[in-house]
Amino acid sequence: MTERPYQICTVCVMDTSDPEISFDESGRCNHCRDFELLLGTIWFPNDEGEFRLASLIERVKTEGRGKAYDCVLGLSGGIDSSYLALKAFEWGLRPLVVHVDGGWNSELAVQNIERIVKHCGYELHTLVVNWEDMKELQLSYLRSAVSNQDVPQDHAFFAGLYNFATENKVRYVLNGGNAATEAIFPRSWHGPAMDAKNLKAIHKAYGTRPLTDFPLISFSEFYFWYPVVKRMTILRPLDLMPYSKEQAVTELEQIGWRSYPRKHGESLFTKFFQNYYLPTKFGYDKRRPHLSSLVASGSLTREAALERLAEPLYAEEELRRDRQYICRKLRVSEAEFADLVARPIHHYTDFDNWERRRAAVKSVLDIVARIRGKRINLALRT
Ligand SMILES: [Zn+2]
Repeated sequence: MTERPYQICTVCVMDTSDPEISFDESGRCNHCRDFELLLGTIWFPNDEGEFRLASLIERVKTEGRGKAYDCVLGLSGGIDSSYLALKAFEWGLRPLVVHVDGGWNSELAVQNIERIVKHCGYELHTLVVNWEDMKELQLSYLRSAVSNQDVPQDHAFFAGLYNFATENKVRYVLNGGNAATEAIFPRSWHGPAMDAKNLKAIHKAYGTRPLTDFPLISFSEFYFWYPVVKRMTILRPLDLMPYSKEQAVTELEQIGWRSYPRKHGESLFTKFFQNYYLPTKFGYDKRRPHLSSLVASGSLTREAALERLAEPLYAEEELRRDRQYICRKLRVSEAEFADLVARPIHHYTDFDNWERRRAAVKSVLDIVARIRGKRINLALRT
């Protein structure tokens, strides 16, 4: 592959660290152009959003009447899910609140979860992932050196959440995903978290023992069982309001929630992975698409985004401490861990996956949607 010359978008801060980025004559990138298409399709930070949100809340309440819960909410302790938990309470919803404990919670995350739950009067259900399974999978992923090292945590989170929702007969899932802060994301950086086939293939290639009861979602569960049979629907209320992290933090701090010094400070592994592993090994700085989303959604200037990018990803001492902690927890020596981090890179498609099957299902659904004149939501958007 030939190295392309460095270029950065003149509007946002995405650059050629996204190998698939393209620029128009004015130097504006494809992400900026794609972002514009979201307004009025999935993103409604306006009066229409207010109207849509009100009717969404009404629908969830009405269908939940007489039931123990009207929706389910996965609470990680991070800003988005914490804010959504607070809003759900203010809207008068009755969520089944679930925390999936993958073993990497920071102390602050635990405190923040407690504060939210206490303020809102929620009953918290914690699903603890079998740590031996989690460790086994995370070591397999590190050996595979694919870019998305968060797959074991993310997969367990959604599999645990959806399964628990179904057991409790809840079909609406409140999701803290939102266009305003995360719509821009390079496709080439992506590694699918829900592809259980890929997860199993990576584990088969690099694992040392079978998994016991790690929560998995199969292809048919993801594309058929949950969305069609169980009619599970993922709702993203933060897309129906002018969502800003600053505003969210301000409101959360009023109830005693405290900010994380770094992005993804709720999970020690994710923090290390995003602030060290990805940028040093792959050249992917996840702050870049995040800040670009903020610029595109109008909540940050490009200059401020560039200033934020110039800040160091890690302080030396903090990095040393986190690395030590991860080694202890994964039960590897620091030298072994350094070897793991230095392993030759793989792309997730180097391992068996369900992409082709997914594409086939999608094209069938597209045809059905054209015939019915109505778009069909493919599976469970996460
Ligand atoms: Zn751009």
